[in-house]
Amino acid sequence: MSNSYVGRFAPSPSGPLHFGSLIAAVGSYLQAKANHGTWLVRIEDLDPPREVAGAAANILTTLEAFGLHWDREIMYQSQRTTAYQDAIAFLSQQNLTYFCDCTRKQIQAKGAFYQGQCKHKQLTAGNAALRLTTTTPVDYFIDELHGKIDINKALAAEDFIIHRKDGLFAYNLAVVVDDIEQGISQVVRGADLIEPTGRQLYLFALFGQPAPSYLHLPLVSNADGSKLSKQNHAPALDTSQVKKQLIAAFKFLALPISAELQDLSIPQLLQWGTEHWSVKNLPRQKSIVLNL
Ligand code: GLU
Repeated sequence: MSNSYVGRFAPSPSGPLHFGSLIAAVGSYLQAKANHGTWLVRIEDLDPPREVAGAAANILTTLEAFGLHWDREIMYQSQRTTAYQDAIAFLSQQNLTYFCDCTRKQIQAKGAFYQGQCKHKQLTAGNAALRLTTTTPVDYFIDELHGKIDINKALAAEDFIIHRKDGLFAYNLAVVVDDIEQGISQVVRGADLIEPTGRQLYLFALFGQPAPSYLHLPLVSNADGSKLSKQNHAPALDTSQVKKQLIAAFKFLALPISAELQDLSIPQLLQWGTEHWSVKNLPRQKSIVLNL
């Protein structure tokens, strides 16, 4: 990869960063820096009901405390309404969208996936979601760490929601519109986002844009196998213990840590991490129990 590499970290401000988010932040940062690239931060404040007041500012302060400085202005999804509306208009003009008023319960009664029940109903907006017709499902992609990853064919074939019933833009739409706008060349993120990658690749193709490459890092999980997340109250990163947590993140990402790292400053640690970063040494599990 050349220095045209552009990576990003895209947290949702639904709570403070925890060790799982630190892995995505550090992994995407080191991969960008090891490729002499640019590392961007995007605040995915797309869903006000799930947002926690002050979380976005708290996330940024925490990133700074870890020495993870972003290279360009931060993008906020809450300021991108026009771009998302334009994208929806573009897809609608191609007759690729339709309204759907099915409830989750109605969909589940017919099977695990949405079967296109509303496709020919000619519903209009108003208590309805907007779905995208999937003409050419993307049921696999090549991940830089995992190689070929297959996506469930029925899931890949589903006409998925791009504008929600409650008026909010859907994650897959926003993430692709923004990855295009920010010129992202590689997406490095947690393995919980492997499945949506197919939908995102389909959107890149519809927009006629080159897709980034993908690298999905192992998720940090609790002893019971559940993902460490804001929802299950993962402890917030402790900004008085930056070095310890950064070294723990390096260890999780299979960097060859040693006792001497304790003597380095935070910028020196990140420099060391950049020099020792190796995708081929990364653990290939999709999820790893936290064992600090
Ligand atoms: N905002 C998403 C999250 O916090 C990440 C989106 C992405 O990296 O594509 O889980």
